[in-house]
Amino acid sequence: QVPKQITNEAVKPFGAKDTKDWDLLRASLVKFRSSSLEVPLVINGERIYYNDGAKRSFFSQTNPAHHEQVLANVTQATKEDVISAIQSAKDAKQRWMSLPFYDRAAVFLKAADLLSTKYRYDMLAATMLGQGKNVYQAEIDCITELSDFFRFNVKYASDLYSQQPIESSPGVWNNAEYRPLEGFTYAVTPFNFTAIAGNLIGAPALMGNTVVWKPSQTAALSNYLLLTVLEEAGLPNGVVNFVPGNAVEITEEVLKDKDFAALHFTGSTNVFKQLYGKIQQGVVNNLYRDYPRIVGETGGKNFHLVHHSANIPHAVLSTIRGAFEYQGQKCSAASRLYIPSSKSEEFLSNLAGTLQQQHIVPVNTSASPLNGGDLHGFMGPVIHEQSFNKLANAIEEAKKDPELEILCGGQYDKSKGWYVAPTVIKTSNPTHKFMSTEFFGPILTVYEYPDSKYSNICHTIDTTSGYGLTGAVFAKDREAILEAYEKLRYSAGNFYINDKCTGAVVGQQWFGGGRMSGTNDKSGSGNILNRFVTIRNTKENF
Ligand code: GLU
Repeated sequence: QVPKQITNEAVKPFGAKDTKDWDLLRASLVKFRSSSLEVPLVINGERIYYNDGAKRSFFSQTNPAHHEQVLANVTQATKEDVISAIQSAKDAKQRWMSLPFYDRAAVFLKAADLLSTKYRYDMLAATMLGQGKNVYQAEIDCITELSDFFRFNVKYASDLYSQQPIESSPGVWNNAEYRPLEGFTYAVTPFNFTAIAGNLIGAPALMGNTVVWKPSQTAALSNYLLLTVLEEAGLPNGVVNFVPGNAVEITEEVLKDKDFAALHFTGSTNVFKQLYGKIQQGVVNNLYRDYPRIVGETGGKNFHLVHHSANIPHAVLSTIRGAFEYQGQKCSAASRLYIPSSKSEEFLSNLAGTLQQQHIVPVNTSASPLNGGDLHGFMGPVIHEQSFNKLANAIEEAKKDPELEILCGGQYDKSKGWYVAPTVIKTSNPTHKFMSTEFFGPILTVYEYPDSKYSNICHTIDTTSGYGLTGAVFAKDREAILEAYEKLRYSAGNFYINDKCTGAVVGQQWFGGGRMSGTNDKSGSGNILNRFVTIRNTKENF
């Protein structure tokens, strides 16, 4: 039975460092740090390693806080492996979709319980070390959000299945059958949230679909662990087939297949646009049986708008958290800030002062930004060299641009890990490319507007970037809040009033945005599940 009451998993506080929780976590961290693991492909439950004999290459997943440290050697799928993963997904389909819903649901409910109990510390350690998260950021990702996705999806699916045609007439029986899609789903998952990877495979699978899963190279360790947890929870072989490797090659193979039924994607806007185009081309060329479902969540250039009536210390702290938690590597992260002239000095000196302090936010923070890799600290490393270089280049560009001024941060250091300090840049031009380009890292650009131009600035926010993911307004004045609410209707799929623009909670803030930020199918809600079913309506006369 689906539990009647489904609630959000509580975040474990991980307070003082001498508790049993810390001992358990340390043991897991030591385990993953001290030996590099072999991560195989998993096709129809079978483990395939690069050193098995057949010719395959591997890549190493390293610790972004200590880039010399190899955490895992990950087998790369060949073209033939992708073909067998697709076949395995097709073969597993009939049995999986025919199971009573409660049997599929049981797998995810049990996995959620395993994640928050037996595997909590291993999952945290794998996500912290591999993806460069502090304990709090890992906890709200691979424990609470991930288990919330699994549990809430069960509730939403159960609600959906019980929705039936309401009209009937004497002697007539009407039924709606929520069939899984005909074919297989391709899940392409990001590095930044283990939870998102879980939902990208979990949502379609719960609805009776089977999946070919291309994990991010920089999250392979935690993602493989997640798959083993699902298997322990009872996931049958072949329902989810794990094929790390070269994204372009894998995708090419997948998109050739007639049975390709859906793309479930989180990642960059550019890659998503390319896939979108290829799939549409495939439809035009009669490649597929169905119109494949395309579900994607991509980038953002998310805003914080501060009105002169705002509680400034609160807006400052929210901005620091929204822009710099997890080094700004959330699609939802704040990266452009609009402050009123009358409060500019107060805001910016508070911002700079707080960023320099040891304790930046009230949750599990203890270290200064460039702290050399303290996993308990507020700021950790960015994910990899490519990201580091992109951010370092942006900072160098800012130093030379007369329209930009670095107010704080601006340092970067790759001697040990990929560290970039939280950087605040002021611009004199509200439509500067730093106000529209996503850097996916700890760079926040701020523009100071005259208090009297609040309406104009709403318009500027709406038209400066092509994205529409998240945004926040900080104000006490109700009129100002309402004006932003009206004028920024399509600027954000997740709009926050007096709160930071990150940290959507499953079931509470449905996550996703439109415009170039994605298809806005809203993870953490029942809407997303609709994309992975195709309804058959039956009428029977008695
Ligand atoms: N759901 C996360 C949040 O609200 C962000 C997800 C993402 O980065 O894609 O902060």
